[in-house]
Amino acid sequence: MRDTRYEMRESCGLFGILGDVEAVQTTYFGLHSLQHRGQESAGIASSNGEFIQCYTGTGMVSRVFRSGSGILTKLANPIAIGHVRYSTTGSSRPINNQPLLSEYSRGQVAVAHNGNLINASLLRDEYEAYGSIFKSTTDTEVITHLLAKPTHASNPDHLAHVLNHLQGAYCLLFLFADRIEAARDPYGIHPLCIGQTEKGAYVIASESCAFDAIEAKFIREVEPGEIIRLDKDGLQSRFFVKPGTITPAHCIFEHIYFGKQNSFFFGENVHEFRKKLGRQLAIEQPADADLVIPIPDSGTSAAIGYAEQSKLPFDMGLVRSHYIGRTFISPNQKLRELEVKLKLAVVKEAVAGKRIVVVDDSIVRGTTTRGKIRALRQARAKQIHMRVSCPPLRYPCFYGVDFPTKEELLANNRNPEQIKEFLEVDSVGYQSLEGLLSCASEAAENYCTACWNGKYRIPVDIPVNKFALERYQMHMFDDWLEENG
Ligand code: SF4
Repeated sequence: MRDTRYEMRESCGLFGILGDVEAVQTTYFGLHSLQHRGQESAGIASSNGEFIQCYTGTGMVSRVFRSGSGILTKLANPIAIGHVRYSTTGSSRPINNQPLLSEYSRGQVAVAHNGNLINASLLRDEYEAYGSIFKSTTDTEVITHLLAKPTHASNPDHLAHVLNHLQGAYCLLFLFADRIEAARDPYGIHPLCIGQTEKGAYVIASESCAFDAIEAKFIREVEPGEIIRLDKDGLQSRFFVKPGTITPAHCIFEHIYFGKQNSFFFGENVHEFRKKLGRQLAIEQPADADLVIPIPDSGTSAAIGYAEQSKLPFDMGLVRSHYIGRTFISPNQKLRELEVKLKLAVVKEAVAGKRIVVVDDSIVRGTTTRGKIRALRQARAKQIHMRVSCPPLRYPCFYGVDFPTKEELLANNRNPEQIKEFLEVDSVGYQSLEGLLSCASEAAENYCTACWNGKYRIPVDIPVNKFALERYQMHMFDDWLEENG
């Protein structure tokens, strides 16, 4: 069954390590620290230098590799890659779990992908026209077909050759029997980082928080258009696109919302960036109030910055339950409101009788935010002033972040007064795009801002959604398995 509610979700998290006898166990811990990037499925592929084996499952890392199952022991090998998934192309079905293991003329390969290929549908049409059979509905499988095409497979650097056929956002980990190759798209849309463990093993991860979890040190980010090869000789770098020929388009939403607070990428720490956003927001959108509270967790750092700048006290008026996994699909408004309450509880004593500033990182459809505002009203907050640390979202994302349609976005075709009425707040204030970019460490032109201004740096000829490759009513048994397995 498709989840028709939309909160913004990241596509995936990647982790890879080579040269450690405990590579698989380390990958397990790395994936845990990247769990915020995807909770639909998890998987690990490992190699002993000759053969690759792979295990994937639906759900969170701790469920897939549950203690006592012995799966990690069976996978134990010195080279490993892992993946946590939230689907942005291809539905949430076991057949789409990653890493995706295949065999072709050059041997086995397991692929883990974060991002969205905007030309996947065209490429798939092309391959199907020549008789190729696809077993999943993900854009990632197209990459394995490109690798296997005889004219590509015979190329001396067939991986670099294939990457030049891809359009869109991608961070990729390839596990070949004897090595890992990591690649980042030429625009560097999503983050990919390199680290090293105390024992000297190289690690690659979507975010540096994975290095903190395994006590590895951050070395640097994989550059846009770069391939990093890890093998028995260590780390080698090469580029499939000449450096400096393409201006980067980092997804600034990674810093605003997705990244974990202790991560460092795009040249700075996530928490510090969000605090800067909060300070800038307080300058642009001050409020006459008694207290600043965040929508936890992603609004917390910005709320701290807002409180610092405005010299207002900071408090936790809402507390998040961290023990709720994926909840049911609420069939009516009343149950949806109860679900919001289950996830976020109001601390009545903190907000009753106060004029509060509520700081969040973003507002998507607005229904979830309104549920939280109503809960604060019920707790007798005197005034509620909504402040948002990014500008109004008006356009969908085609680069690997799951957005609702343009029409469903709250700020689409609504002026500030209408947004205020919809949210049932006393005032609403968004950060300006200029203010947002002034907080970033790199030059403004190095960031993607398409979801605010509709300027897509990689042109999207055919708008795609996550079900673009779901062409037939197949895999019915997968659906049953997911719900009952
Ligand atoms: S459109 Fe928005 S969410 Fe998508 S990559 Fe660009 S900044 Fe990120």
